[in-house]
Parts: sequence; C-alpha cells; structure tokens
Amino acid sequence: MFDLAVIGSGPGGYIAAIKAAQNGKKVALIEKGHLGGTCLNVGCIPTKTLLANAAVMQKIQHAAEYGITTGPVTFDFGKMKDRKDGVVTKIRKSLEGLLQSNAITILRGHAEFMSPQELKVKGQESCLVYAEKIIIATGSEPLDIPAFPCDHKFVFNSTSILELTALPKTLAIIGGGYIGCEFASLYAQLGVKVVILEALPALVALQGKAVSEALTAAFKKQGIEVRTGVFVEGVGAGAVQLKGEPPLACDAVLVAVGRKTVSEGLGLEKAGVVVSDKGVVGVNTKMETNVPGIYAIGDVTGKMMLAHVASHQGLIAAANAIGQEAYMHYSAVPAVIFTLPEIATVGLTLEQAQEAGYQAAVGKFPFAALGKSIATLETDGFAQVVLDKKSGAILGAQVVGAEASALIAEMALAIANELTVECLTDTIHAHPTVAEAWLEAALIGNDTPLNFPPKISPRR
Ligand code: NAD
Repeated sequence: MFDLAVIGSGPGGYIAAIKAAQNGKKVALIEKGHLGGTCLNVGCIPTKTLLANAAVMQKIQHAAEYGITTGPVTFDFGKMKDRKDGVVTKIRKSLEGLLQSNAITILRGHAEFMSPQELKVKGQESCLVYAEKIIIATGSEPLDIPAFPCDHKFVFNSTSILELTALPKTLAIIGGGYIGCEFASLYAQLGVKVVILEALPALVALQGKAVSEALTAAFKKQGIEVRTGVFVEGVGAGAVQLKGEPPLACDAVLVAVGRKTVSEGLGLEKAGVVVSDKGVVGVNTKMETNVPGIYAIGDVTGKMMLAHVASHQGLIAAANAIGQEAYMHYSAVPAVIFTLPEIATVGLTLEQAQEAGYQAAVGKFPFAALGKSIATLETDGFAQVVLDKKSGAILGAQVVGAEASALIAEMALAIANELTVECLTDTIHAHPTVAEAWLEAALIGNDTPLNFPPKISPRR
C-alpha cells in the first residue's frame, strides 16, 4: 500500500511526488510514456531548444551592426533536431535519477482506477496499486480540428512538427496563440515563409492590446504574414481553404488551436470522479476532486495550461494529501510566450483592471530609452506596469523584448506579495540592466519619470 500514487510524471505529477516523498511518504509515480510529460518531451524544453538556435541565427544576421563581419551563414536543421533530442534525453535521465534519489517507485504503464484507492497498471509494469491518496496529473494533448484531423504529413500538430528533420519552404499556422506564435518565430527565423491564420481579431488576444499590437508589429517586420479574423474551412492539395477567400498554397500546415485534457480511459467513473463533458476534472482550491482522497492537478483541471501552474498545483495537492493545508491562487501567475521578441505577463492587463473597477493606469517604458538595451542593440519592446492610482497597488505587468522571460519574475514577486508602486521605486535596481525598465515604468506610472520626459514640463 502506497501513501500516495501519482498518475502522470509531467511538471505537475513529478513535483507532487517529490514533495510527498520528502515528507516521508511512500510514493508511486505512474507513467505510460516518457518521464517528464509534455513539457519535457514535446513542449517547453524541445521548443525552447530549437528557439535558442533561431536566436543565434538572429544575432548572426545582425552581426554587422556590432561591427562583426561574417561569411555566408548556413545551418543544418537535422543537426538542430538532433541537439533538441539530445537535450530532452539528458534532462529525462536527470529526472529519473532525481526521482530515484527521492526513493519514489516509478511504475511504467497505463493507470486505470478500479476503485477510489485502487489502480490497475498495464504496460512495461503490470500490477495493482493500492494508495491511500491519488493525484491525477494526466495533462493534455493537441486539439485537432475535426473537419481535417492532422495526418502528420501535410497537417501537423505541435507534437508531430517537432519530428521534422527538414524545413518546409512555406508554413501556414492555424491559431495565433502561444503555440502558433512560438512556432512562427522559430520557423520564420530559419527562413521559412510563415503565415498565421487566427480566427480572433488579434494575436495572443488574452495578453491585452499593448502586447498583441507589439508582437504583430514585430512579426510583420520579420516577414511573418499575420492574418486575423480569418476562418479556415479545410485543407487539401497543398493548400488551406479560407472562408470567402482564394485557397492559400503552402508546404505544411501547423494546427495550434488549443489543447484538450487527457481524462478518457482512466476509469474515473469507477472511482466516482466527476468529469465535465469537455473532459475537465473539476477541483477546488485545495486541488481536491469531488472524491475525498483523490486530487487533480495540471492541464487536466482545465485551469491555466502552464507547466509552472501545474508544478505549483502539484505542491498544493501533495501538501493537502499528506495532511498539511494549502490553497491554490491564480492572481500572480507569470506567463511567457517565447517568441522573438519574448513576451511575458503577470496579473491584470490595463483593460482587465479597468473592467474590474480599479482606477487603473499604466507606466510604460520603452527599451529604446534604456542604456543597457541601447548598448546591446536590443531596443525593441517595452516594460509596462499596471497600477491602481488609488492604493498604489501593482495590479499587473507586461513586457515585450529581450529577456522578458527573466524580467517578469520581479513583477510576479511584487504582485504575489501585494507590493505597491512605491515598493518598486524604493528598490535599488542595478545599473546598467534591463531590470531598470521596471523602475522607470513605475516612476512613469507615478507621474515622476526620471529617465523619461515628464508629461507636463516643470515651470522654468
Ligand atoms: P491558445 O489557446 O493559446 O491559442 C489558440 C488560438 O487558436 C486562439 O487564439 C484561437 O482563437 C485560435 N483558433 C482556434 N480555432 C481556430 C480556427 N479554427 N482557426 C483559426 N484560429 C483558431 O492555444 P495553443 O497556442 O494551442 O496553446 C495550448 C496551450 O498550451 C495554451 O493553453 C498555452 O497556455 C499552453 N502553452 C504554453 C506555452 C508557454 O507557456 N510558453 C507554450 C505553448 C503552449
């Protein structure tokens, strides 16, 4: 009998398993595929590995601006894919070692509930597992468009496109969300002619107007065609059919229209766990399902489909499962879109803050006005703080530009700890760094800019 069994070893499941094991619990981690789940095997890590190649290409293309002369630059996409596979394999091995060092029993196979405390595991290992508490961390998979499911030869999803060893000349991407935009950046940087077909009026619409407009402008500058408000009716014969428009010829199509939860075939009905008609396992803020002792975390809960949200939910679920008390909050979740330029957000956008009734204002500082950014020739983009004029509370932050993924951490800390704009302006920021953009944005938000012209000139 295990104290805890976790189904799924993604960033939610494995973190939950470690937390419980480190508290002296006997833990089983059940995985039917590779350890590490979507994030490590077909998500965050492989895409960021490939994007690192694209970033090097981008730097080389701008070498002359740094006074560096290069010869003709070529690349071997097959080698880039091999590097990506190598990185994934390396981290997968480390993860296995980490789990073993925590004395977690890894069971390789498909788990299915027989009852609320009993799982049948079938696969490399076949056995019955009894556990006092169970965490469901089965994640999600790419959503198909029913009218033209992926054939993985002409129409790919975010998993199958990672297996390509040669680049198409032209790529049509259906969906201008996280996945669509990240792949657009990657492929365009490697010389592929990319068109994004987005049904909504804007790319990454949820991130707010300022971010969406900045990304669209940067994409257009890079030669990426952005078509919003378009409806794809079908694909076939080397083309995408758009409603009311001529067919759009392309060599490959990437479908990036969202992900669906993995909750089928788990025998959840035998345990009495309620699943919505969309396959979402409902949970409360303690990550408890409707069945006492059964928890769910990560994408399968239909909350924010982000690896770090899954990990945090894993900590909360494990804490509750081992008799501690912990609650999940979603008000300070950073999100990063790894495009070129990077985008990172946390908390409320200006539009959301206004809708919520705050006396909202923004302080927006362009990297073009920052010494470090000018020195490194990385002046595209801005850092923006959304604040409540009445209380001074920092409500949200958005950043577009180089190092945005690292920069957002400061604002996540500020919002998670309910800091005010004064806390930000009272904090000494190292010079010259891109993090100074937060200080300057906060000063602008407070109408006391230092390294930016004031809105109204002081009396002379
Ligand atoms: P998404 O929800 O971010 O974007 C999908 C987009 O497709 C939406 O803008 C939607 O309007 C559009 N769309 C849907 N149907 C369409 C159609 N028929 N024609 C044209 N456009 C259509 O989904 P995603 O980009 O597939 O990403 C899936 C999940 O994975 C997201 O929840 C995201 O959080 C997560 N993810 C995160 C990261 C990251 O953290 N960097 C990276 C990749 C994926």
